[in-house]
Amino acid sequence: MPEGILPELLIAAALLVLIASIGVASRTKRVRKGERPAARPDATRPTPQAPVTTEESLAVEDLAPETQPPAVVEAPPVAEPKRSLRDRLTKSRRFLSDRLATALTGGDDDEIWEDLEAALIQADIGVGIATRLTEAVRASARGGEAKDPQAVRSMLANELHALFDDSRDRALRFSLEKPTVWMVVGVNGTGKTTTIGKLSRDVAAHGRTVALAAADTFRAAADEQLGVWAERSGAQLVKHQHGADPGAVTYDALQHARAKGMDVLIVDTAGRLHTKTPLMDELGKVKRVIEKEGTVHEVLLVIDATAGQNGLVQAKEFAEASGVTGIVLTKLDGTAKGGIAVAIENDLGIPIKLIGVGEGIDDLEPFEPKAFVDALLS
Ligand code: GDP
Repeated sequence: MPEGILPELLIAAALLVLIASIGVASRTKRVRKGERPAARPDATRPTPQAPVTTEESLAVEDLAPETQPPAVVEAPPVAEPKRSLRDRLTKSRRFLSDRLATALTGGDDDEIWEDLEAALIQADIGVGIATRLTEAVRASARGGEAKDPQAVRSMLANELHALFDDSRDRALRFSLEKPTVWMVVGVNGTGKTTTIGKLSRDVAAHGRTVALAAADTFRAAADEQLGVWAERSGAQLVKHQHGADPGAVTYDALQHARAKGMDVLIVDTAGRLHTKTPLMDELGKVKRVIEKEGTVHEVLLVIDATAGQNGLVQAKEFAEASGVTGIVLTKLDGTAKGGIAVAIENDLGIPIKLIGVGEGIDDLEPFEPKAFVDALLS
């Protein structure tokens, strides 16, 4: 290499390095500022949406305006873990638990039993049953356990559980011949429509087809409300005009369910109570319409657990008039005191088959006495 060229070469190399580093620095700065670097055909770059070819995706990306927000890759839906019954009954549980805690830490024996009885009455169990229960626990606690709150709770749990007849069939009845027909009755506001929606969803989730009969033709918009639940649960809705004859709707719904070979027909009914006698007549008529053509496999009475002993009065009237075969006790997730479940089973002798523990479509559970008592007293 001729002398004198080396310094020039060194200067040229230094200039090249300088130019290259200015280029890198400006590119880094643009990226930091949020600017998109010019797209390059980089086959290894991951694309958010498969299976588009790299070139196509790059072309789309390049044409997109600079202001477009970055693509959001949606996370797959995560199933919410099912809440335990104990969790759902938090308010009811607290009501009884707090009172029991106070009662069981009270002064002398007599006071403890009096306070226990009062706590049970306040929890809607009813005076007669509360007195019997207290006597039974008191008799079991003769060995001096009255001073041990945990022991008394456990005795109370046993006695409470014994008040529910475990041999009662709490499963909903299905018929071999299609359709199985369930009538749902109850006072307005107890959660009848919501319960029908939940039931319908549960039946459909087990692979059965469901039709809903909008036979509450008295209440404005009852059929619309039922229609929303039908849509949510994948059921078919049979309805007439507002004010139409409930028997006629029921008849048509039954024919429809038969013609289409549907598995289950759930009949919504009116629930006004201010004209009590005509309502019961109306329910009787709807039932007879079905019985002329087939069988009513369940008459489910919906009771709002927060109504306390009032619910018991309603239950008696409906039970006498429409041959109720099972109770659905709703709103147990709310401020219900829980004891009404004991009162209903004992005073009416009708099994509670289902409980409503929320407003959502999946918030319906089979009633299991032991789990219920344990959740209430835990
Ligand atoms: P219907 O008049 O008897 O048909 O009663 P709806 O089905 O319209 O329900 C009346 C209200 O009670 C609505 O706000 C429902 O969301 C609510 N509801 C129904 N069942 C439950 C339940 O189990 N828990 C709670 N918290 N609310 C309920």
